[in-house]
Order: sequence, then C-alpha cells, then structure tokens
Amino acid sequence: MTDDQLKDVFGILYMLIFIFSMQATIVGKSVSWEFMNFQIIALIFCAYFLNIHIPYRYFIPIILVYMIFNSSIGYWESWCHAWTLIMSYESFNYINRIQSESHRSFRYMMVGIVYGGLMWFFVMVKFNLTLTTFYEEWFYLVIFEILLYSYVNMILRDSKLKLHLLEFANHDALTKAENYAAYTTEIQYEFESCQRNKLHLSMMMFDIDHFKHVNDTYGHLAGDKVLQHVADVALTVINANDPKVKFYRTGGEEFNVVFPGYDLESTKDIVDEIFMALNHLPIDINGKKIYISISMGVSTVSAKDIQPNDLYSRVDGNLYHSKNNGRMQITAF
Ligand code: GH3
Ligand code: MG
Ligand code: MG
Repeated sequence: MTDDQLKDVFGILYMLIFIFSMQATIVGKSVSWEFMNFQIIALIFCAYFLNIHIPYRYFIPIILVYMIFNSSIGYWESWCHAWTLIMSYESFNYINRIQSESHRSFRYMMVGIVYGGLMWFFVMVKFNLTLTTFYEEWFYLVIFEILLYSYVNMILRDSKLKLHLLEFANHDALTKAENYAAYTTEIQYEFESCQRNKLHLSMMMFDIDHFKHVNDTYGHLAGDKVLQHVADVALTVINANDPKVKFYRTGGEEFNVVFPGYDLESTKDIVDEIFMALNHLPIDINGKKIYISISMGVSTVSAKDIQPNDLYSRVDGNLYHSKNNGRMQITAF
C-alpha cells in the first residue's frame, strides 16, 4: 500500500467515525436530519479538498450500514438522498481533477448548490419539513461551503507559495541545476551521514575550459546557452545512471557532482560518461556548431577528513591539476 492509499484509508475512517458518532446522538429522534449540513461538509472536504477517491463497491455497503443504523432503509426519499450523495461525492472528485484554473470556484459552488438543494429536498419530503426550513438549511449549507472553500484555499495558497520559494531558493535560474546554497546544505548532510554510517562519499567537479573565450567570441547570451546545454547533458547522464547522484552549479562555469555511497572506483563510469558526452557535444550558436572541453577533478572522503571542505579542497586541487596539465582531462585520487 502506498502512502497516498494509506492517507485515503485514514481519511475515510475519520470521516466515517465523525459522521456516525454525530448521528448516534440524534438517531431515532424527530430531528435526525439536524446535523446533515456538517456531514455534507465533511464529505465535501474528503471529496474535493483531500480528493479521496471512493469506488462504488465501498460506497454501497457504507451507505447501507448507515441507512440501517438510521432506520431509514424503507424510505424511497432516503434512497434518492443516498444516490444524490454518491453523485455529489463523485462530482466533487471530478471537478477537482479538472486541471484548468478558470471558473474553479464557480464549478465548486454549482456542484455544492445543486446537490445540496437536491439532498435537502428529499429530506424535506421525508420529514415533512416546511419550505422555510428547507430554504434555511440549504442557505446555511451554501454559507458553510463558501467558508470551507475560502479557508482551505487560504491555507493552500500559503503552502504553495512556500514550496515555490523553497524551489526558487535552491535552484539556479539559468540552468535549473541546484545552486551553491543547496550544495552547502546537502553536502553537510551527506558528509555527516557518511561518517555516522561508515559509508563512502565521493565528489567530482568540472569546469569549462577557456569559457571566457566563448563569451568574448560569441557574446554572453551564447555563453548562457552553452551553460544550459552543459547542465542539461550532465543531468541527463546522471539521471539515466543513478538519480541519487546530485548535481549542482557551484560557480559561473563550474559544476559539482556528489556521489553518496560511491568510492572513487565506482564513480568512474558516470564520470567518464559525463566527460565524453560534454567533450563531444555540438552546441548550436546562431547556426554554427561549436565544441567545448571540460576539465575534471574527482576524490573521495578519506579517514582524515573532518569536514566537507576537506573533501572539496582535494577535488578542487585535482581540478586545478587537470587545468595546469593541459586541460580536457580527469584527475582522480
Ligand atoms: P579556464 O580554462 O582556466 O577555466 O578558463 P576560463 O576562461 O573558463 O575561466 P575564467 O575563470 O577566466 O572565466 C570564466 C568565465 O565564465 C568568466 C565569466 O564571464 C564567465 N561566466 C561566469 N558565469 C557566467 C554566466 O552565467 N553566463 C556567462 N555567459 N558567462 C559566465
Ligand atoms: Mg573555465
Ligand atoms: Mg571557473
């Protein structure tokens, strides 16, 4: 069972406990319809806001048990009411799954008003309620629906904004790779977890050779395009091999790859693949194909390292070794 299914099961259980325990206090009395608005609101919450999907094969026994419990199984109005309730649940489910944002609140209100009115109509007939009571209860239901919608949306807007800001803060706007801020947080976590659990941890850094020349010759926009292309290709290679390997843009034309659980030897395949892919990558700049080369430094956590920067300095040193030795090469130890 997935986490989502487990959440659904708990959602349904809470809802059932809520509805049945509420109904237990008034069952058999002449006002046994009194809490219906609260129960409908609970259902709307599950159907629309939690978007829990309940297949018919679960709905039917639940409703039968409810009708027996409520002694209403012999009334045609109760059957109509039950059918309307199932249809309204399905409709709330359905309109929430429509992707388009336009008229969202309108769709919600229409479904709420129409089905709410139908349900109260059947209850009015069954309990011989006055027309005034019918209108009153229907009106209260609509007010509850508006309040629920505004309240939940207010909360969701906040949490969506937070997620968006977090995403924005951790990613580089140009290449969409994770940025230096994300790197510093995550390498600290990986380093501690590797020391605590006696796991391997390796790192590779690469830098585009003579990148200033690309900017000077073709302009900064062309340089930006090269950076995007390089990040795309490196990320594609990494994800095709092992999505646990992390990729960051840590400097202007400098990228960092963190390999949790990898010793030096086991990084070789991915490192070589990125190296080959980028050194043979044709990049189209205004109809002209240009090629770049990169230099790499690789290393792994050793027993002497006491902080992430000890590893970082060794990788950086290896990268500079590649640069000083003629570029377009890998230094790893
Ligand atoms: P080396 O082979 O020694 O690495 O030489 P290099 O020219 O690549 O290195 P250098 O550090 O001299 O120049 C890096 C250049 O990268 C300088 C800077 O203008 C450019 N750069 C940094 N960030 C960006 C960016 O976001 N867009 C563009 N177009 N250029 C950038
Ligand atoms: Mg460079
Ligand atoms: Mg550089």
